[in-house]
Amino acid sequence: MSVENNVMRSVEKREAKVFEMMEPMEHEQVMFFYDKPTGLKGIIAVHNTVLGPSLGGCRIWEYANESDALWDVLRLSRGMTFKSSISGINLGGGKAVIIGNHKIKHDEAFWRRFGKFVDSLNGKYITAEDVGTSTDVMGIVMQETKYVTGKPISAGGMGDPSPYTAYGVFLGLKASVKEATGSDNLQGKKVAVQGVGHVGYTLVKHLTEAGAKVFITDLNASNLAEASKAFNATVVEPNEIYDLDVDVYAPCAMGATVNSDTIPRLKCSVIAGAANNQLADENVHGHMLSDRGILYAPDFLINAAGVINCYREVHSLGEAETMELIEKIYPRTLEIFKKAKAEKIPTQEAAIKIAVDRIEQQRMKQ
Ligand code: NAD
Repeated sequence: MSVENNVMRSVEKREAKVFEMMEPMEHEQVMFFYDKPTGLKGIIAVHNTVLGPSLGGCRIWEYANESDALWDVLRLSRGMTFKSSISGINLGGGKAVIIGNHKIKHDEAFWRRFGKFVDSLNGKYITAEDVGTSTDVMGIVMQETKYVTGKPISAGGMGDPSPYTAYGVFLGLKASVKEATGSDNLQGKKVAVQGVGHVGYTLVKHLTEAGAKVFITDLNASNLAEASKAFNATVVEPNEIYDLDVDVYAPCAMGATVNSDTIPRLKCSVIAGAANNQLADENVHGHMLSDRGILYAPDFLINAAGVINCYREVHSLGEAETMELIEKIYPRTLEIFKKAKAEKIPTQEAAIKIAVDRIEQQRMKQ
């Protein structure tokens, strides 16, 4: 069998799989990119551009295989569509993943090449930082494209969006506690925070200042030590976090931690955190949570302040206008709970319905 035949066979196999995955989630475009000199290899997924250009961070991760990378970028870009829509901003959903080691520092040529690939989409996709990338990386990417946000403040950007994200999560968490208990006073409430990285650390700060008793865990010993020292939070083992007798579980690490194994272990009445795609399967686990009487704050709704800060960069909004958009997370969270209750559906489903309705209304006007 010739090399060409081999390649054709694998291309056919992959194409069939890509469309199989794209169609049910309704993605507009998926771009695979590869650059031999730098070893750069990744995927950009544009989910929906009805409300505006797609925007979403660039994640670098050592995926076990290509299917995992594709699945991740498709799920994350779809989440970005819902996130921007429900936040009332005029952006669509997109995301980039790079298959590689996020722990090693990649050189300027690597990131400039990524910038060139982003630029080739002519503004249909705007990038930003995500897991494994940073404002410094965006400072390099911007040498090749104007379609980049989360740039360093010194380069005219808004810098790290995480403090804004953490504040938005705090507002969503408070609204959830109000729905569950009748009051949003966090004094004495017990909150378990999984992951004290960029967002988790600042969330712990807000929670501590509000008088909550905070439990923290992290796989990274230095992040854990820093947060525990700064806020006098109680440190627990990573696997122990699901069994704690707390009021709130706040996932601020990776996705899919709310699943068939963990839900039966949870004793909290509220789940509200920063991580994207917290429900391992939104069709199954939203219902499981409702059945157990656990109130779930949809992740893409309460962690939207980071993308709102990127939107600010695209449209040169002021601080007051940006904060006004972020403060809306509190009433919108309550609105979702009301809809979910009225329609007897899981909160995630109610949030997706509202996000999709806004897109459909706009689509009809086009
Ligand atoms: P980060 O990488 O700075 O922090 C994540 C922390 O979680 C790290 O300290 C890591 O060691 C820890 N961690 C990973 N797996 C863990 C596990 N199994 N148990 C305990 N700890 C674990 O990331 P971040 O920027 O703080 O983002 C956190 C989450 O929020 C991510 O899912 C991200 O996609 C999401 N998010 C972030 C932003 C933002 O503005 N940074 C915006 C929206 C959503």
